[in-house]
Amino acid sequence: MYNPSAAGVTVNTESGNRFFVYEVVGLRQTDESDSTTNPIRRSGSTFITVPYNRMNQEMRRITRMGGQIVSIRPLGEEGTNGHTTPTVSQEQTQKEAQPSKPMTETKAKKAKTDDIPVNIYKPKDPYIGKCVSNEPLVREGGSGIVQHLTFDLSGGDLRYLEGQSIGIIPPGEDQKGKPHKLRLYSIASTRHGDHEDDKTVSLCVRELVYKHPETNETVKGVCSSFLCHLKPGDDVAITGPVGKEMLLPDDEEATVIMMATGTGIAPFRAFLWRMFKEQHEDYKFKGLAWLFFGIPYSANILYKEELEKLQAEFPDNFRLTYAISREEQNAQGGKMYIQDRIAENAEEIWNLLQKPNAHTYICGLKGMEGGIDEGMSAVTSKQGVDWFDYQKQLKKEHRWHVETY
Ligand code: FAD
Repeated sequence: MYNPSAAGVTVNTESGNRFFVYEVVGLRQTDESDSTTNPIRRSGSTFITVPYNRMNQEMRRITRMGGQIVSIRPLGEEGTNGHTTPTVSQEQTQKEAQPSKPMTETKAKKAKTDDIPVNIYKPKDPYIGKCVSNEPLVREGGSGIVQHLTFDLSGGDLRYLEGQSIGIIPPGEDQKGKPHKLRLYSIASTRHGDHEDDKTVSLCVRELVYKHPETNETVKGVCSSFLCHLKPGDDVAITGPVGKEMLLPDDEEATVIMMATGTGIAPFRAFLWRMFKEQHEDYKFKGLAWLFFGIPYSANILYKEELEKLQAEFPDNFRLTYAISREEQNAQGGKMYIQDRIAENAEEIWNLLQKPNAHTYICGLKGMEGGIDEGMSAVTSKQGVDWFDYQKQLKKEHRWHVETY
């Protein structure tokens, strides 16, 4: 029987709420293996997350099902020096080996962090770029104005990575007579830009329009209106880039689950272009990308053609799931929101999340996380796992990324 203590895995008896990820091979489907609670795969490894207080029980169950645990990884475990504890392999256990020092991984992470461009242009001295193009993204029958904008960067040295944002300073002054403050926008292009010449940056911007709660007057957002009505050749003041939360992992085999509402699609367009559309020497994506995209009408599916083309070309590596709230119904007959699609697929998502290289990204409307948590809680509670504890661990491991506004 595999014994985590003997393997040198730190088991903290006070930590009933900690989790361990078992990598298991050779599981066979039996009456006991309930596919609603266990990820079973015919080949390769299966990853099973187990709360500390159920470790022995789960080991016995895996053995009864013919499975062999090849490694146990404490989920989100950090050593005293702040390094992530490495996976402990079965071979190591047999030799009573100590976990090897995790320096390489840490150094790699550090080096990568140093490489992230930030604040190349500050608000006091922004880069003045030119609008190259400004195209509508909402088709007839859709709601609101959402534009795809591209700016020329060739006159400066602004560079950025997929998942970062830039600031835009709208011209003019606010009600207090002070220059407008910058607004952040997620970058919708890869680091190479839409023309793949490293000379542009693109955004996906919704014009904010609302009724003033007291006067009932229609009010338009300052910066989003400015951007949505820009003409090619117009100047735009750009700052940044900023943001380290939404960066794409380097791992070409990663599982990347993306959940977007509306303009929250922007960073994911950049991810998908990098994964599938562009050719790189040093990054050839071979993992799984799964995009959940919530919009009100099918005419609001931003970048619809691009997304569906990629999906048709890469069916094994890219899954695309829409939630069209005003046109589709959820199982209860209500509107189909992104959280309903997450709930429908929560079991599969849960299984995917247990792979050590699975990342989840959430981007778009503030408040969208609540429904997602609800859907995930329903599935994990069946296994005695508290979703919020688990999510905390994922955050610690930098595998749960959220940018909502
Ligand atoms: P403002 O003129 O600043 O007006 C906004 C103000 O209007 C609010 O603060 C609120 O006081 C008021 N208001 C808004 N709605 C209502 C309402 N319904 N009722 C009453 N009052 C209301 N936006 C995008 O379009 N695309 C993106 O990719 C994008 N990425 C972002 C990334 C990050 C990290 C962040 C923080 C924000 C992002 N945003 C994005 C939002 C963007 O920064 C702006 O907030 C948005 O464009 C509105 O700015 P504005 O100048 O047009 O509105």
